[in-house]
Amino acid sequence: MIKFSPPHIDDKIIDEVVNTLKSGWITTGPRTKQLEKNIAAYCHVPNVLCLNSATAGLEIMLRWFGVGQGDEVIVPAYTYCATANVVMHCGAKPIFVDTNEDDFNINIERIKKAINSRTKVIMPVDFGGFPCDYDAINTLVKSAEVAKLFKANSPEQEKLNRILVLSDAAHSFGATYKGKVSGALCDATVFSFHAVKNLTTAEGGAIAFNLPEPFNNQEIYNYLCIKTLHGQNKDALAKTQKGNWKYDIIEPGYKCNMTDIAAAIGLIELSRYDSMILPKRKDICQQYSNAFSKYSWAQIPLLQNADKESSYHLYALRINNITEQQRDLIIQKIFDEDVSVNVHFIPVPMTSFYQSIGYSIYDYPVALKNFTCEISLPVYVDLSNEDINTVIMAVVKAVENVINN
Ligand SMILES: *Cc1c(COP(=O)(O)O)cnc(C)c1O
Repeated sequence: MIKFSPPHIDDKIIDEVVNTLKSGWITTGPRTKQLEKNIAAYCHVPNVLCLNSATAGLEIMLRWFGVGQGDEVIVPAYTYCATANVVMHCGAKPIFVDTNEDDFNINIERIKKAINSRTKVIMPVDFGGFPCDYDAINTLVKSAEVAKLFKANSPEQEKLNRILVLSDAAHSFGATYKGKVSGALCDATVFSFHAVKNLTTAEGGAIAFNLPEPFNNQEIYNYLCIKTLHGQNKDALAKTQKGNWKYDIIEPGYKCNMTDIAAAIGLIELSRYDSMILPKRKDICQQYSNAFSKYSWAQIPLLQNADKESSYHLYALRINNITEQQRDLIIQKIFDEDVSVNVHFIPVPMTSFYQSIGYSIYDYPVALKNFTCEISLPVYVDLSNEDINTVIMAVVKAVENVINN
């Protein structure tokens, strides 16, 4: 069976995890702090905070910005539920926006129409690792027309005095946009290091801070270290210093710090991200594109153009002119060939909970159309060229069988 997205675990990772276990310090400590510095250097941002998930990072940023009841946050309809769930956690309302036809990303014209005086944050998602149009989004939130609608009701909102652009970059670590790396493309960016993502720590995530003047990113980082550890003004490592046991609680904070065991995996992953992980993923995607471009039923995903290059997180193949039932049957037939595939995503407004609170998928026709005909193919470091050919043959056989019957 060819798996969909297993992690690449070798002796280098195992040794670093074992070293951590033997070091006498297994939770947030030197390795987490090192990983933060290394990611900040990679992304060219002033500060990075590592946490136990991307979900926690997104929610912390919404709460830091003072998002709550009565506020609206613009998110794409075509995303994983985490993007919308964190808005619900804060008591605010997710405003879903339909996606582009060509690249699955949030549509800028439709963002414009969704903005009103309740809008506090836009959360673009770099679908599959392909960056959104950040220049357009950043220009939009600063435009006089949009800025005059903004009503600040927290000190941070007053300071920014416009809509915050918070990137859900769960897929796009290492992607580039106009010569910049994901992380440095808007106010704040959240990465996921979940087991299936490009760079993993088993579970984990990080916030890259890139807030404009007069914000001090170092101060925000310092404050959020406390906010993500119960509001306790000293972390466990600081408290082990001689006589340094006393602490205070400055607010009822959250508990979502990264462990050094997880950071150990991330340090090794990052050290070979550009030399091994990205090139391998790119090569797999290019082999798929070369193979499928021969078939008129295949719509090849956009992975690179003049301004952007994907992190090659997903290979989202679309099959022209098929129904959802045909797509499901094709997937069944691919699995029958012992090849695992997936669908990214079931649009959030289509899920039971979001339907029950009044959202309808028919308001997002492009998301529905993309969902109907999308199949994600395996992309991971340990996929061999033989495996890639097996995947290609299984897909071609399954599609031709279904569309010719
Ligand atoms: C995986 C994912 C997340 C959540 O990441 P976690 O680290 O599991 O919290 C958020 N958004 C998108 C688009 C994702 O694919």
